[in-house]
Amino acid sequence: MDKGRVLVTGASGYIAGFIIQDLLAEGWTVRGTIRNLAKADAVRAALGVSADQLELAAADLMSDAGWDAAVASCRFIQHIASPLPVGVPKDENELIVPARDGALRVLRAAKAAGVERVVMTSSTAAICYGMTRASQIFTEADWSDLTSADTYAYVKSKTIAERAARDFMGREGAGMEFVTINPGMVLGPVMGGDFSGSLVVLTKLLDGALPGTPRFGFPIVDVRDIAAAHLTAMTTPGLDGERFLCAGKFLWMRDIADILKSRLGDKAKRVPSRNIPDWLVRLLSRFDAEVRMVLPELGRERICDASHARERLGWVPRPPEESITDAARSLVAHGLVKA
Ligand code: NAP
Repeated sequence: MDKGRVLVTGASGYIAGFIIQDLLAEGWTVRGTIRNLAKADAVRAALGVSADQLELAAADLMSDAGWDAAVASCRFIQHIASPLPVGVPKDENELIVPARDGALRVLRAAKAAGVERVVMTSSTAAICYGMTRASQIFTEADWSDLTSADTYAYVKSKTIAERAARDFMGREGAGMEFVTINPGMVLGPVMGGDFSGSLVVLTKLLDGALPGTPRFGFPIVDVRDIAAAHLTAMTTPGLDGERFLCAGKFLWMRDIADILKSRLGDKAKRVPSRNIPDWLVRLLSRFDAEVRMVLPELGRERICDASHARERLGWVPRPPEESITDAARSLVAHGLVKA
């Protein structure tokens, strides 16, 4: 039986790729959006799918063009596209505007087309920033504090986009359902060269770009588990308005480096053994904007309580050691790091 069509925005992205593969495996008809159709063959090749299996439509978060056609005849939307930069943007609006306006474009078009439910990929960035203590436990009840000095451009973009989407749903969304998945830092195997900025932490450790590990870290989650959460959140009844914090154990950079060293053998020979003291990070930050960005992260432990996702979605994330090891092995196997 035809289950219906699902639109996946940002089909060229890391998380979207796993979601598309899972949707196809479950028998959904899938349409993806990409900014430029010139990339269509490369996107399909990276996913190992044919044009029959994955229809692609052009749509940019920054423009109205293409969205009505993209959402037409879709039952569900997985809205995943949003800029995730590696470095620091010159202007924070480079991230905020596409994240916020893009979400609104997708929701407006979805509402007009009679879509049943939109699942949007938000982030722990919309939950865990603006900390008042060195270590804090977060749930879906928390929102990042945009008035705090530790909310950088990406954090703002995800918080503002999720708030704008929820405001839209409150104002104009009646009859359509909306759910967000808020992942921690997503790791896991990569399918090819076009992987997410979240894996850069691993590439920098593996290829020796970092002389040591600074004292910061992340709540880790596996891309395969995040894809599974998106699919369950799409069809489980009674989830309208829900928010799911999907993040596992918080690991310091030191922990990540130690996991690589203990599991990757010779491939981890460039992974640093030393720690970089906070004073040195502060000194280096005077000369480097990327280092400056991590200053508010030093010593901060963000512990995410994912019990809501476990209870409502039956979500069972794998241990972070597996995600880190599988990510590192696939980066090495694809020749994406000089380990
Ligand atoms: P990714 O691989 O960089 O994917 C981002 C996607 O967004 C790409 O398909 C990109 O298209 C698309 N995009 C960016 N700007 C766009 C624009 N103006 N118009 C249309 N599409 C645009 O990163 P990802 O990790 O898969 O991230 C996917 C989602 O998960 C994002 O919403 C991100 O905020 C969220 N998230 C990620 C993590 C993580 O650790 N990776 C954690 C929490 C939440 P192009 O290929 O054309 O650039």
